[in-house]
Amino acid sequence: MKLSKALMTTLREVPAEAEIQSHKLMLRAGLMRKMASGIYNYMPMGLKVLKNIEEIVREEMDNTGAQEFLASALLPSELWKESGRWDTMGPEMFRLKDRNEREFCLGPTHEEVFTDIARNEIKSYKQLPLNLYQIQTKYRDERRPRFGIMRSREFLMKDAYSFDKDNEGLDISFNKMYEAYHKIFKRCGLEANCVEADSGAMGGSGSAEFMIKSEIGEDEIAFCTSCDYAANMEKAPGTPEILEKEELNPLTKVETPEAKTIEDLVAFFNTNSKRFAKTLIFKADEKLVAVMVRGDREVNEIKVINALGGAVDFRMADAEEVFKATSAAVGFAGPIGIKVDCLLVDREVAELYNMIVGANDTGYHYINVNYGRDFEGQLGDFRKAVEGDICPKCGKPLTIARGIEVGHIFKLGTKYSKSMGANFIDENGEMKPLIMGCYGIGLNRTMTAIIEQNNDENGIIWPLSVAPYKVIIIPVVTKDAEQMRIAEELYNSLRKLGIDVLMDDRDERAGVKFKDADLIGIPMRITVGKKINEGVVEFKLRNSSDIELVSLDDVVERVANELDNIKR
Ligand code: ATP
Ligand code: MG
Repeated sequence: MKLSKALMTTLREVPAEAEIQSHKLMLRAGLMRKMASGIYNYMPMGLKVLKNIEEIVREEMDNTGAQEFLASALLPSELWKESGRWDTMGPEMFRLKDRNEREFCLGPTHEEVFTDIARNEIKSYKQLPLNLYQIQTKYRDERRPRFGIMRSREFLMKDAYSFDKDNEGLDISFNKMYEAYHKIFKRCGLEANCVEADSGAMGGSGSAEFMIKSEIGEDEIAFCTSCDYAANMEKAPGTPEILEKEELNPLTKVETPEAKTIEDLVAFFNTNSKRFAKTLIFKADEKLVAVMVRGDREVNEIKVINALGGAVDFRMADAEEVFKATSAAVGFAGPIGIKVDCLLVDREVAELYNMIVGANDTGYHYINVNYGRDFEGQLGDFRKAVEGDICPKCGKPLTIARGIEVGHIFKLGTKYSKSMGANFIDENGEMKPLIMGCYGIGLNRTMTAIIEQNNDENGIIWPLSVAPYKVIIIPVVTKDAEQMRIAEELYNSLRKLGIDVLMDDRDERAGVKFKDADLIGIPMRITVGKKINEGVVEFKLRNSSDIELVSLDDVVERVANELDNIKR
């Protein structure tokens, strides 16, 4: 492509709408433009990157034996009513009606569609295992679209769905996807960590997220400092801290009129927050549930929901419900005499000596409370992990970092096949539900994550594999006929080899051209200037500051050599 004929507008100013580096650079490099909140148009250069990522994803999916498929984005409500998700998806789903008042949605994900295809097309175990994937547009009315295409309302997803006859088969399908995802992110030049995620009521190690470590990430991840263990915060274990043993003192009720929060109590008793256990009350479907964690810890709601065997509707109890459980105002709940369906006690609380808890009486707390002597409950791990908690794999300390989720693989089991009646006949002639898995990668989010990890003060540094163009040729003086002739010759030779090459033949100052080349991040730059009199051009890699002088006869080979290094 010649830049004089291309639609490419770069911006010198940082657009006010962008907060993070990748979003700023995408706008400045003219890769995309915003149309409405969370809705973007891809400009030619941006589209090329997206297509390159798409191709890597497609190749790796095909390598696993998965087959490409394409479903409609416009989906009838009936399918979603069968799975029950028409009601549970909530406002994130874009809903619409046709001219006959029939209800539809724009697919936010496609489990229902693929389950429907499977129940119609798969009859026998002989057709299994099967893995179908698509690269298709998804629609989600995100509560907070942000960071450009990182969280947009229309985006491209590769979603794959596997169908197996048993759990062993599902394990194999899941592992194939796990391996393929590692290859995809590596080929995209991304350093992605695979993180154990919570799989809800499904249990087991049925869910893994692929995360890019980043300050701006919306997820928190616990990483081991010395082994490869990594888990989403929902899943990371909290190991009880064992405190020094103390003599048990007699249980005593103390008036604490104004002290409701842990901070108030710490000041009132002039002690530290480890001395306290807080009791939080939740409503889980129809049940009232109390959860105790140490005063300096936070409740992990996912762990609580899992301990309850799942809950569709889970929230903090309101003041009225708290009163029902404690006969007291909010702020005075405690384990002794509490009226709840279930009392969950974090193991660490059982390790406390002479702790302070609410007395279920407005204005009072108990001091010198001891687990086992004064109260009992269901013990477990109910708190959020923190920096310094112990790695469950090797025993070394965990650190907490932020991450961006770029991919998610998930063992669904029979969740959809049972509710939608997707069955097959097994070897013994018995009818059984298909065992499913689902596997997603956000292509646009991957693109922006690549920029987030690969940039400097001058712009984007595209990894060769996904770069919109691999080489840019810059004739320094466009009016110099000889420079232009040689640039043109190089351009044609590279194109003949099938190499994506850009030529900046605009009548601009060389400085402007160099700035733009750096901003849009083309991996290789060939500068055709005065030195052509000596038969030499300048060759520079975007990710290095070295400028090499390469003879005109060798420069095409130099480019080809770099391209040979692309990771496969
Ligand atoms: P998040 O927690 O970020 O909302 P999710 O759990 O809703 O993600 P999935 O339903 O697992 O995401 O979708 C699979 C992949 O699709 C994600 O890993 C991510 O890469 C991408 N994705 C999800 N939502 C968006 C979005 N609004 N914009 C861009 N990509 C998205
Ligand atoms: Mg989401």
